[in-house]
Amino acid sequence: QKAEWAKLRDARTETADGKHFELAANIGTPKDLAGATDNGAEAIGLYRTEFLYMDSPELPTEDDQFDAYKAVIEGMNGKPVVVRTMDIGGDKHLPYLPLPEEMNPFLGYRAIRISLSRQDIFRTQLRALLRASAFGHLRIMFPMIATLQEFRQAKAILDEEKAKLVAEGTEVGKYEVGIMIEIPAAAVLADQFAKEVDFFSIGTNDLIQYTMAADRGNEHVSYLYQPYNPSILRLVKHVIDSAHKEGKWAGMCGEAAGDPIMAPILVGLGLDEFSMGATSILKIRSLMKRLDTAEMAKMADKALNESLTNDDNIKLVKDTLK
Ligand code: PEP
Ligand code: MG
Repeated sequence: QKAEWAKLRDARTETADGKHFELAANIGTPKDLAGATDNGAEAIGLYRTEFLYMDSPELPTEDDQFDAYKAVIEGMNGKPVVVRTMDIGGDKHLPYLPLPEEMNPFLGYRAIRISLSRQDIFRTQLRALLRASAFGHLRIMFPMIATLQEFRQAKAILDEEKAKLVAEGTEVGKYEVGIMIEIPAAAVLADQFAKEVDFFSIGTNDLIQYTMAADRGNEHVSYLYQPYNPSILRLVKHVIDSAHKEGKWAGMCGEAAGDPIMAPILVGLGLDEFSMGATSILKIRSLMKRLDTAEMAKMADKALNESLTNDDNIKLVKDTLK
């Protein structure tokens, strides 16, 4: 099996009926790039930049960040790289950035909420990203977007920094601007967001926790962590359909994207990009070769409309792929 996967390293990801899906890698630092390319990643679908901040004794400078982003973007040789702006807060803390004690950190001051109030930190990151955009195919992504206003505000700050760099004579390349869909409010209004963003990436790790109101790290409620629950799948379908209606693409960068039960459903729903831990890529590429998209679409329709539970859908996928 490992030998078969190795042969797929440089292969295009295609279903049995010849439909292409983009299989991308999630990374945390530029050091993870080798693992991504060794496992045949067609793109980087999530670069979690918070590790750059967490591994540093103080706020990383614009140049420190530029070097890291450039290394990843250049290292992918023109293949797309989704860089997510800082997602600090929740369970991730910085010794040099004291955050308020909170009753519910996952519902609190986190990610884009910090970036929009600490614009000094945000603008530095955006400038580093804009400068790095000249070296390949950059996709900038904002985490934890709940409202259209947040997206517009973040985008306006990005546009301002771009204008400043251009005025200074610094080269800025082309880039896409998208959001993570990981808060139910954004998933529900995906049709409105789709008119303004270039892409969506669904973050199931948080989307499931917020939709089911079940802390993703709490073992007492882990039975509610249900990726195949029809409620989650309906949100995912709405996000994908909304993107496509506006000619945009939709990906997924939560754990579910690399899951062999979820992937066939996502193929059926027409998800464009799957981003996962690099070591899952060849397994999923091999699985997709066996799938027929029309059959998966029928299966997905049942998963959303006939199945009642998470377990029903595990059985449905296993029976269909038998
Ligand atoms: C997610 O929420 O699914 C996600 C990819 O982001 P993180 O796991 O970093 O919160
Ligand atoms: Mg998340």
